[in-house]
Order: sequence, then C-alpha cells, then structure tokens
Amino acid sequence: MHIDIMKGELAKGTKFHTPYYIVKGPTIGATVMVTAGVHGNETASVKAAKQFVHSLQQGLLHVQKGTLVIVPLVNQQAYTKRIRGVPDLNRTFPSSAHDKPRHPLSADLFRLAAQYRPAWYIDMHEANGLSRLNPKVLGQSLLTDRRSPSVKIVRQIVKRINRSIERQATHFTVRLRELSGSGRTAAARLLQAKAITVETSWSLSHPIRVKYQKNILRQLLKRAGLMH
Ligand SMILES: [Zn+2]
Repeated sequence: MHIDIMKGELAKGTKFHTPYYIVKGPTIGATVMVTAGVHGNETASVKAAKQFVHSLQQGLLHVQKGTLVIVPLVNQQAYTKRIRGVPDLNRTFPSSAHDKPRHPLSADLFRLAAQYRPAWYIDMHEANGLSRLNPKVLGQSLLTDRRSPSVKIVRQIVKRINRSIERQATHFTVRLRELSGSGRTAAARLLQAKAITVETSWSLSHPIRVKYQKNILRQLLKRAGLMH
C-alpha cells in the first residue's frame, strides 16, 4: 500500500518549532487531530504518539479512510526539561470565538486545527493518582465535556479498555468537564470537534502507560472510521 504522509512544522522559524504529520487514507472520511506533549513531563503520551507515527511510516499501521493530523510532541522545550511548561500551554488556547491564543505554539496549533477542521480532537496527557480511587485526580481517565456528542463513545471505549485491565483500582473513568484555555475545550467550542483528553497515571509503569495510550488512540481512530 502506498503511504501518503506529509511532514510539516508548527511554529516554524521560532524557538518553539516542532513537527506535525498529515496521514491521508486512500478514501475520503473523517479528519482526526491528535496532539501529545502539550505538557513536557507527560512522557508516556509523547512516546505513544511518536511510536504511532513511526508505525504509520513503516507501514505497520494504516489509515484506511479519512485524514489523521498528528503532533507527537507539541512542547519541545518543556519536554527537554521534563517540566509541565511555563506558561502552562493548556491554558493559552482561545476560550471563545472572541478570544485569541496566548502563546506562539497554541496559536499555530490552533491555526492548524482550524485549517483541517477535525471532526475529532484527541489530546494525550498524563496525570497524578488513580481516578477510580479518588474523584479529585485525573490519572487513568478520559475527559470530554458533558454536552459533547462523544460522551457515549468515550463511555464505550472506557468500558472496553477496562475489560482488559485486571486491577480495578487502575481502571479508567470518564470525567465530563470543560477547561477554558485548553486545546480540547477550544476544539469543542470553536470547531465543534468531538474533543477528548486521554490521561494515563504516573503511578503506573512507563511501558504500561505507553500501551494504554496507544490502545486508546487506536480505539478512538477505529470509532472515527480511520482504522479497522
Ligand atoms: Zn497534561
């Protein structure tokens, strides 16, 4: 199969520059945008996104339909230092149509999103704790806003993933909330995307978090019709 992957650069010509990839399937379908590394210390999501791109480049994974736009490491500078990032990039996205992004990276990322108008926007993160045990933490959760058409899909995916996880304490939960200034909420409010955040837990080992991230991404891309 011919692999149609285009590489571009976000925030080109600035110190924030970082690659993105556009992967087109052989037939027309939905567009899905995937971002990882908005926070530099969430390393399993970055590794999963990078491995995903590598598998697509090697022809081990295929986009069968539609278009995938993927930015495997948004905040290179924060990642180099393994810090969340200053400012927190996930508070710099526009909160309404009248608002403007407050960072060169979120500005260019959102410009790319507005150009492709993804039906789905998936933001890969990591967090503290286990959400199943503590309602105040986000580790092992999927987030979307309560009015999103993706609520049902997110619940189904969590159910499916949890079936394969033996330890109940590490099961994923669904959290319905908005976060003004985040990429997810900007994509939902301004682009009407089915916008979802994936959070694995720092309490788990790195390889298992990478596995969960890839598995959930795969399930979401299946639901969006991009993969079998
Ligand atoms: Zn994060």
